[in-house]
Amino acid sequence: MMRYNNIVILTGAGISAESGLATFRDEEGMWNKHRVEDVATIQAFARNPEYVHDFYNEMKKDLIKVEPNAAHLAITELQKNYPAKISVVTQNVDTLHEKAGNENIYHIHGQINQAVCMNCGTIIKTRDDVKTEDDCQQCQVQGMFKPNIVFFGENLLCMNEVDALLRGCDLFVSIGTSGVVFPANTFVRTAKYYNADTIEFNLKSTANNYEFDRHVIGKAGETFPKFVDELLEEIKAVADI
Ligand code: NAD
Ligand code: ZN
Repeated sequence: MMRYNNIVILTGAGISAESGLATFRDEEGMWNKHRVEDVATIQAFARNPEYVHDFYNEMKKDLIKVEPNAAHLAITELQKNYPAKISVVTQNVDTLHEKAGNENIYHIHGQINQAVCMNCGTIIKTRDDVKTEDDCQQCQVQGMFKPNIVFFGENLLCMNEVDALLRGCDLFVSIGTSGVVFPANTFVRTAKYYNADTIEFNLKSTANNYEFDRHVIGKAGETFPKFVDELLEEIKAVADI
């Protein structure tokens, strides 16, 4: 029986699928209706900021109206009841982890409900549209807000903290990520190298599935809550001895 002290949960678009959000490679996904080079690169933003703002303003409308599903809620349950440090590292830009009440969340690809001033680094949280003519209240410069989304060609966020978490964890869980997006697809290797148990939850076998100790195939909203129940049962059993 294993008692974990330090758990890292990595999530990707698949954890939000049961909340009604299309995954990246989904045919219905927004990404398939736009070219990545037009909306998700820093060059595209420099070329045509209005177009890029419109894209993320639209995406924000869709993302903020959805609700967390059983998998997001099971993370809260685990964080409340399991006596370990439990961190959530997400590639998702939606706010479903927050809505579900998760804590210690690291958005490595940014967050749809935020904009960052490229002049002074101030981050604002907003449900409203972000526009090129917006002023920054901090530095008073106009036209410098960018969606706080990591574009291709930019550095990921919080990577120092995430790296330290991976090196210190004894259980690494991956939920609904395809295993093809760098560098999140290398996190399992780091955790494994530092002797963590590794387990993956996905609908199907993923690109880096051979790096996990255990695979649970199925919908995360069904499989992950069961796993949380198992972990909570295990600590109860230890307490009863
Ligand atoms: P991906 O779309 O490449 O892969 C999603 C994975 O989830 C697939 O392996 C799929 O089999 C699995 N999956 C789908 N439904 C599932 C379910 N119900 N239960 C368990 N697994 C399920 O996503 P990715 O690996 O996260 O990479 C895509 C990139 O696109 C990320 O960088 C992310 O920032 C971005 N993105 C974000 C969102 C969001 O914020 N909700 C949505 C789409 C894309
Ligand atoms: Zn500013």
